[in-house]
Amino acid sequence: MGDAILMRHLMADERMHEECGLFGIDAPGEDVANLTYFGLYALQHRGQESAGIATSDGQALRMHKDMGLVAQAFDAEALERLTGHLALGHTRYSTTGSNRLENAQPIVVEHPQLGSVAIAHNGNLTNTQLLRDDLEHQGVRFKTSSDTEVLAELVAHTGGDDILSVLRRALPRLQGAYCLLFLTKDALVGVRDPLGIRPLCLGRLPDGGAIITSETCALDTVGAEFVREIEPGEAVMLGRGEPVAQQLMPSPRKAMCMFEFIYFARPDSHLQGQSLYEARRNMGRELAREAPADADIVISLPDSGTPAAVGFAEASGIPYSEGLIKSRYITRTFIQPNERLRNIGIKLKFNPLREILEGKRVVLVDDSIVRGTTSRKIVEELRRAGTKTVHFRVSSPPIQWPCFMGIDIASRSELIASGRSVEEVEHLIGADSLKYLSKAGLFRAVKNVSGFCMACFDGDYPVPVPVQLEMDKLALETVAR
Ligand code: SF4
Repeated sequence: MGDAILMRHLMADERMHEECGLFGIDAPGEDVANLTYFGLYALQHRGQESAGIATSDGQALRMHKDMGLVAQAFDAEALERLTGHLALGHTRYSTTGSNRLENAQPIVVEHPQLGSVAIAHNGNLTNTQLLRDDLEHQGVRFKTSSDTEVLAELVAHTGGDDILSVLRRALPRLQGAYCLLFLTKDALVGVRDPLGIRPLCLGRLPDGGAIITSETCALDTVGAEFVREIEPGEAVMLGRGEPVAQQLMPSPRKAMCMFEFIYFARPDSHLQGQSLYEARRNMGRELAREAPADADIVISLPDSGTPAAVGFAEASGIPYSEGLIKSRYITRTFIQPNERLRNIGIKLKFNPLREILEGKRVVLVDDSIVRGTTSRKIVEELRRAGTKTVHFRVSSPPIQWPCFMGIDIASRSELIASGRSVEEVEHLIGADSLKYLSKAGLFRAVKNVSGFCMACFDGDYPVPVPVQLEMDKLALETVAR
């Protein structure tokens, strides 16, 4: 095994992974390639496998994409070649399609009337096979296994002499989660799916120019101000004066991914008018009220568990302390390791502070438990460091169902809480006690905003899902009866 592959194995984690980050900009007179590069840097947490930028100067599209982190995919020379006043950028984590350069985005297709169109996608389509079969019947030969190529070919094979009219015809055929950016030679369009599963927002630069991006933290990074969220089913077009908004598809039901609030989006981003740091702190406060513990200190699984741990400490009166030090140089990665390498990876990532933990009764707060491997190893490490008691507290409900909307949990068997009681999970991870935040507590923490997808907690999917899963669900229900 090569060194690079080995390191990826060692560093891989068991978190659920977001699929992608999007950044698009219209800013005549600005260095749009560099601004997009910085925007993608801010969105690096949404995908670390590949990065790409396409630009347009009104005449022609230019593109550069490569594997790896944003800083690895671009150098000064590559950015210099990306001239123009319009740009779109993408960071990728794959949930469909393998990890190869040909699957990296943006993808460029030739449209008979519009010319070259660059496309970037965050989310996951659930009817890809159907669309693919249909396009293959029309003679399309696919080069990659990604659902974004299917989407790109669908757009390329939909007639129309204006990008918005093409999208109005093509996009209603899609099912699943999609935030999309399209770049033609003279327009940049951002679209959010009718359920609004993944986030997308509009921003403004102080000297003119507009941005469409996945998260508000990318606007902050490039000095832009937040204007508003793009509505489910809405398209916003940049590049022809002021932004033009159009409702492309009706949005009878909203289903924003609750995990964006719990873990995926950066804590310094805002969603639905709420600070995600505050929302996560509220989750910790609710958790302390619902599941108190007799303990000396509260610690977090850094960094994602920290806002909830701070909230837990505030509501319980138990002091917060750092107890696990996370290596700053370990990133989320993409190859699933075997058990032995996964264990080494956990030790590389988190090191317990013996001086703080020895002889203490500890509340350990994390935002979620997926497979439970990390949780079990962390409990073991805490005990090895002399911790007397480990009360594990989770600031979300048990994850029992896979996600088909852009998150890489493919089957129920991967999930430790699926088909098990909380006591059984507590036993498996070796904690003295284990408690999860209730659904009611979670809704209180996000201020009772409605219109969320909660499918990984309750199996109630907002879109049709593969038949096998429905069979699993039915089988379980039969067993339960
Ligand atoms: S199933 Fe879970 S992770 Fe997937 S979109 Fe719904 S809430 Fe988000």
